[in-house]
Amino acid sequence: MGRKAEFIPYEVKAILNKHKRPDHWFWTRYSVYPYIGCQHGCEFCYCRERKYAPYDDLNDFPYVIKVKENAPELLRRALAKNPRDAIAVGDYQPLERKYRISRQLLEVCLELDFPIFMLERSPLVLRDLDLIQDIARKSYATVAFSVIHTAQSPNAAQLDRMEGLAPRPAERFAAMQALSKAGIRTGICLMPILPGLGDSRENLELVIQRTADAGGRFVLASTLTLSDQQRTYFMDYLQSSLPELLPLYQRLYPTQSYGPSGDHWLKIGRMVRELCIKAGISDRMPRPILPGEKRALNKQAAELLADRTYEMELDGMDAARIWPYRKAAWAVEELEQDIGLVYSQMGLKGLQSIQGVGPSIGKQIEQFIIGRKD
Ligand code: SF4
Repeated sequence: MGRKAEFIPYEVKAILNKHKRPDHWFWTRYSVYPYIGCQHGCEFCYCRERKYAPYDDLNDFPYVIKVKENAPELLRRALAKNPRDAIAVGDYQPLERKYRISRQLLEVCLELDFPIFMLERSPLVLRDLDLIQDIARKSYATVAFSVIHTAQSPNAAQLDRMEGLAPRPAERFAAMQALSKAGIRTGICLMPILPGLGDSRENLELVIQRTADAGGRFVLASTLTLSDQQRTYFMDYLQSSLPELLPLYQRLYPTQSYGPSGDHWLKIGRMVRELCIKAGISDRMPRPILPGEKRALNKQAAELLADRTYEMELDGMDAARIWPYRKAAWAVEELEQDIGLVYSQMGLKGLQSIQGVGPSIGKQIEQFIIGRKD
């Protein structure tokens, strides 16, 4: 990479991405990102998709970085008008040293008391440990690292090359250790697990064990996704740099497919679960609950149902059997009354009166509530 990066400050009209409800992976309801483009330039990056990368020439993605210079002020105004919930924040690519916008966004989250989730590939995030700790003391903070291999992994050299300018995995594990020692909840996103490069049992076990050794508490795993211009970019990359893998990817990702076909993911997901159990950590991110949260039980019940949804997916169950759990998790999340109160006043019938909660799911929520009382 000989080309020099160019930074383009500009003013955005809106900064806060809002979701109707928290997602079931990171438990965030909001997200805010200070830059477009990423100097790390990982070849597989989903941020090259059209909706995230408005470049005429996609080769500009790691070299022409757009800097949302008014992001902190816009975030302050937006958060002041929205209910308190977790926000995915930050981007610690090299230009953050100069612009410090991620730091300013953290300052806003601290000031307005919003809990945070951060996902990084750089130990530069440690520069702002003081703010992260302050946020964790007031509400909660989780810092995860994207890691897909270790220095000892098979194909480490190819995977290093594919991660471009991102700091090497050992630096990320060291940062994870530092965060863990500082009392910050940390873990990894093992994403994307690349077919033929990072999906061997040996690699997954190395990554998961290193995570546990570094004080990580969870491993969220997912495979590669391919979409529109990012798909074209990545397939072109394979053709020029790893042509021997192209037939495998063409088979796993037929035209228009976003994720891998067949049972590729199921095998990986199950292996990750087994290896996480062996390492004594979780393949789900435990849901943080805000101190003083009035509907804490609803959120925990929604987490239970979301976990069940994931388990059913790993068991290879039909979508028709899985969807009711997902919908019930959403309904419980959105229920305005405290679900414990509903149960204590109306029993199982009360639980079943929640939209999307039938006899079987109602019974599971009941067992959860009773179990918590014991
Ligand atoms: S560090 Fe993350 S955002 Fe940056 S290029 Fe790599 S995958 Fe994309």
